[in-house]
Parts: sequence; C-alpha cells; structure tokens
Amino acid sequence: MTSYDDGNIFAKILRGEIPSLKLYEDDTAIAIMDIMPQSKGHCLVIPRAPSRNLLDADDATLAAVMPIVARLARAVRKAFAADGVQVGQFNEEPAGQTVFHLHFHVVPVYAGVPLTRHAGGSVTPAELEAQAEQIRAALG
Ligand code: 5GP
Repeated sequence: MTSYDDGNIFAKILRGEIPSLKLYEDDTAIAIMDIMPQSKGHCLVIPRAPSRNLLDADDATLAAVMPIVARLARAVRKAFAADGVQVGQFNEEPAGQTVFHLHFHVVPVYAGVPLTRHAGGSVTPAELEAQAEQIRAALG
C-alpha cells in the first residue's frame, strides 16, 4: 500500500494551513463541515494521528475516535431533526476514497430525500456556516 503523504488536504487543515469550518476539536481529532455535502449537515471527523485510512491506523486512534464520531452523529440528528445518520469511511481509491488521511463521514439522512453523490454536493459558504453553527449549538 502507498505510504502516508502529509501533503493531503486534511493534513493541511489539521496544520491550520487552509481554512475549515470547525465544529469540534480535542487531542484526538477535529470535526469539520464537508464542503461538498451529501446532505444538510454532512460533516467529517478527522483523527490528528497520520494514517491513510483504516488499513494503516493504530488501534488507540480508532478506539479514541469512535466516541467522537458518535457524538457528532447525535449532534447532527439533534440539530436538523434528521431521521437517521449514515457513518461512512472509505479505504483506498477503488473503494471511493479521495482524500488520503483517515476520516469518518457523518451524514444526516432525511426520510424520502436521496443523498447527493459522494463528494458531489454543492452548498453556499453562508449555508455551510449556518449549518455549522447549528451543529456547534447541538454539541453544547
Ligand atoms: P473521501 O472520498 O476521501 O472519503 O472523502 C473526502 C471528503 O472530503 C469528500 O466528501 C469531499 O467532499 C471532502 N472534501 C474535499 N476537499 C475538501 C476540503 O478542502 N475541505 C473540506 N472541508 N472537505 C473537503
């Protein structure tokens, strides 16, 4: 498998080199809005530890990040009265991965509303910021 390359976009976001709409952060991970959301409230949980994906991640990182994923899932459900929440994670390009730093998608699902295709959503910066504010409020 190809090794981790710290020039990827999420590594740059973690280093603060490019902006993101941050929802949450601690020593383990950050949570940010996905800029091409598959539904209203689609966000990403990104562990700080460098790994391409699940296949080269260490157990300690995986154990520490899942409670944060659950926290974000509960927050998006509360923020938007979502009917369900999809959690997704892709490993390598043939499996759909496009950014090669481990991350988990937290995607609110609304009954009767199909998800936009992966990395294909479009939303205005103002809409994204408003959604981020709602999630931050739900996180408390
Ligand atoms: P993957 O295909 O690797 O599982 O998902 C990468 C996700 O990152 C996609 O959903 C895509 O919309 C999102 N994304 C790509 N570039 C950026 C960016 O610069 N900022 C943010 N916040 N999300 C991004």
